[in-house]
Amino acid sequence: MALVQACQDARRAYRNWFDSLQGRRRGPRIRHPKLRRKRGRQSIRLTRNGFALHGERLYVTKVGDIKVAWSRALPSVPSSVTVIRDSDGRYYASFVVQRQATPLPACDREVGVDLGLASLAVTSDGEVIANPRFYRAAQRRLRRAQRVLSRRKKGSANRAKARHRVAVVHRKVREARLDYAHKTALRLVRDNQAVYAEDLAVSGLARTRLAKSVADVGWSLLLRCIQEKAARYGRTFGKIGRFEPTSQVCSACGVKDGPKPLGIRVWTCAACGTVHDRDVNAARNILALGRRERLNACGTGVRPPLTVAAGAEAGTHQSAA
Ligand SMILES: [Zn+2]
Repeated sequence: MALVQACQDARRAYRNWFDSLQGRRRGPRIRHPKLRRKRGRQSIRLTRNGFALHGERLYVTKVGDIKVAWSRALPSVPSSVTVIRDSDGRYYASFVVQRQATPLPACDREVGVDLGLASLAVTSDGEVIANPRFYRAAQRRLRRAQRVLSRRKKGSANRAKARHRVAVVHRKVREARLDYAHKTALRLVRDNQAVYAEDLAVSGLARTRLAKSVADVGWSLLLRCIQEKAARYGRTFGKIGRFEPTSQVCSACGVKDGPKPLGIRVWTCAACGTVHDRDVNAARNILALGRRERLNACGTGVRPPLTVAAGAEAGTHQSAA
């Protein structure tokens, strides 16, 4: 079973690579498939014939019955299971199941979300969602664990123990970030009929000197969670183009006020005199753009005359680094 799955995975990986080389595949260039590694995270996937559920226990071919600490009841008969051994030695069983959508009762609130680094997000209602910076918070612990690891003799039992401790710190950071993203996304989706956000060029920003902050804040993770939950609860999630000058336009009167240095947090519109918080104004513009694109998609299919695109802004609050 494991060999068959591995062969299929390899076949798909090579097909993706060849398609990418020949330009038959959209998205970024795909590299040559990586060889299997013996260390770190390991996993095997088993389909129908390879596993069964024996009451509370998971039966795996050639292994036998395994005791499982269930995190939740399975909503349907699983079609496959992936058994994962994480780099810190924990084992997980991840099932593929079908789940019914559970739409929430409709509500009339809609929200625009401006993602940033100083705070994870600012909504068009003026709510500020904090950025807990889980990785930075764990850096001292991580540094100590890694220092211990580097001093242990290669191949020794104490080195294996030290490596395990480093892996545990990384896992805790990962889990805390995932939990926070799920809770934030659920709150946004539950309280609003539609959520709009900017489509950020995360992979580009992750190559700048802000890389660590960008990776730690987890924008893509949050957006993915919002998208999943919106689909599940019958709500709308819309992304707006990344070149919209959302922080240059006055959300009250629509006049484009020109680019502003990232240090300016509050500004007054020259045309109508409204005083704007930079991020809330951007979130309101995102909400307006998202609504317009959505109505347009339902209607004529003609792209609306959007405000002039400008390359003056990187798209995020860089001052926050
Ligand atoms: Zn104005």
